[in-house]
Amino acid sequence: MHEHSYDIVIIGSGAGGGAVAKELAPLAAAGRRIAVLEWGAKLADDAYTGREVEMARQLYFDSGGVLTKDRTLTMAYGRAYGGSTVVYTGTSLTIPEEVVRRWDVPGIEAEDLARRSAKYLAENNVHLLDEEELNDNNRLFRDGCAALGYRVQQFPINVKGCRSSSLCNLGCPNSAKQGTHRVQLPAAEAAGVEVITNCRVTRVGEGSCEAVVADPGFGLPTTWEAGEHRVRAKVVVVCGGAVNSSALLLRSGFGSALPNLGRYLTLHPALILVGEHPHPISNFHGHPKSFYCDHFWESERFLLETCMYFPFTTSKNLIGFGAEHSELMRAFPRLQMILVLAIDPALPANRVVLDRDGEPVVDYTMGPEVLDSLHRSMVASARIFFAAGAARVHAPAGATFFIDRRDADRVEELIPRSRVVPGKISVASAHLMGGCRMGRSAADSVTDGWGRVHGARGLYVADSALFPRASEINPYVTVMALADRAAEHIRTNAGELLAS
Ligand SMILES: Cc1cc2nc3c(=O)[nH]c(=O)nc-3n(C[C@H](O)[C@H](O)[C@H](O)COP(=O)(O)OP(=O)(O)OC[C@H]3O[C@@H](n4cnc5c(N)ncnc54)[C@H](O)[C@@H]3O)c2cc1C
Ligand code: SF4
Repeated sequence: MHEHSYDIVIIGSGAGGGAVAKELAPLAAAGRRIAVLEWGAKLADDAYTGREVEMARQLYFDSGGVLTKDRTLTMAYGRAYGGSTVVYTGTSLTIPEEVVRRWDVPGIEAEDLARRSAKYLAENNVHLLDEEELNDNNRLFRDGCAALGYRVQQFPINVKGCRSSSLCNLGCPNSAKQGTHRVQLPAAEAAGVEVITNCRVTRVGEGSCEAVVADPGFGLPTTWEAGEHRVRAKVVVVCGGAVNSSALLLRSGFGSALPNLGRYLTLHPALILVGEHPHPISNFHGHPKSFYCDHFWESERFLLETCMYFPFTTSKNLIGFGAEHSELMRAFPRLQMILVLAIDPALPANRVVLDRDGEPVVDYTMGPEVLDSLHRSMVASARIFFAAGAARVHAPAGATFFIDRRDADRVEELIPRSRVVPGKISVASAHLMGGCRMGRSAADSVTDGWGRVHGARGLYVADSALFPRASEINPYVTVMALADRAAEHIRTNAGELLAS
């Protein structure tokens, strides 16, 4: 067993961990010892090949297809220097005031989160693309929404020197996407924060953690020797993401004092639809995600976004097989694609538990309100495709594989609610939230509004696990804003927390 001693240890280097590392960097520059322990590998710039299977294996847990307990939903989350920010699309939104009000966490104010979000929007070069940088897939969505009178907005995104390769979810091969691996982590390292990759933390406690270092067979070498490590630290900040932060605290025995640990997980359950146009459109060249429609956000609890996935992911997400499936895949250059996201309620039964080996299992059920939202979102998407000029549409719950343009006014009937059945449609999630929710006390939550774990000295959570309910928009900027709060609390109280 190798022994180490630090002032502060940060577990995970994604949106949350990267922000904490950067915000605590002044303490490192002043001589405090700070380490980030990251399970995933750091890839050299030229190792981002854009090859679908290879990148999915190197940058995601289970290649981006972690199944829930009942196997009706797959979850994608990153494992890398930079966490999911290496594979996210980089759409950068500030959490709306109404959602923060619904969160109802003492000390969490919309204005405070907006101020902190603005800092990261500037730091990570968030801006709107110019009209000439948008591809047809995006423009058709905007025009289809506008023709129907649906409210549509452009996504601000965080790129610098984007070369339109559309490979954002496989790790940008052009170093353009400004995730924490490009911005916050290098800045923290420059100030003296150590980042140890290939390092999986297995247990945490007040003032310590245990980790295992193992070579995954790819990526840059790490600084610690392979094997078991014990780390003493005055402050431990858990930033492993919604599933892994919850699992780590459960495995470390915090569940008995914190009955809400692992619970209230929300996922924004999502699926894709495709519309086939009569002629080729630009779709897999260009930034994939430029617009969203929040017209049905309050009334029907869903969001629509542009997207364009790679052939493997697209084919997996289409329902059916055989001749029709091949026909649609052959039409790839003519496909327009929409991602729908249901805004799911936070329920105690939807949670992370551990299997008998101590590994996380996500026990999540899509309730009737989520299935209703998915149904309504498919009907709305089909209308948008036809309004944009599509010749036919494939909807996962369609009564027929294709809905033809001549049936455009029958989409309601041709996408029956009765076919929206878990396990029969391909549902996925990339927005995992909750499990260590913020709140008032152990009776209703796991941490307070600064991310301090109730009843545990020097132990913080600073990532997407903190969300008490769904963010109802793309969450990464809010993750960084909450991590910023935790880091500020540690900095402000460093004298007391780091006293020997
Ligand atoms: C494909 C995809 C696209 C997305 N697109 C967008 C988008 O466009 N806009 C948006 O707002 N959001 C997007 N998201 C969501 C966003 O990326 C996440 O909400 C955000 O990154 C979560 O931050 P986090 O710090 O909680 O976790 P992560 O960023 O996932 O980081 C967690 C890190 O902790 C590490 N870790 C876990 N357990 C341990 C352990 N035991 N020991 C050591 N390390 C550990 C993991 O390896 C990982 O690197 C997307 C996500 C995905 C997967
Ligand atoms: S579209 Fe831009 S940000 Fe996305 S992978 Fe290509 S170059 Fe990188």
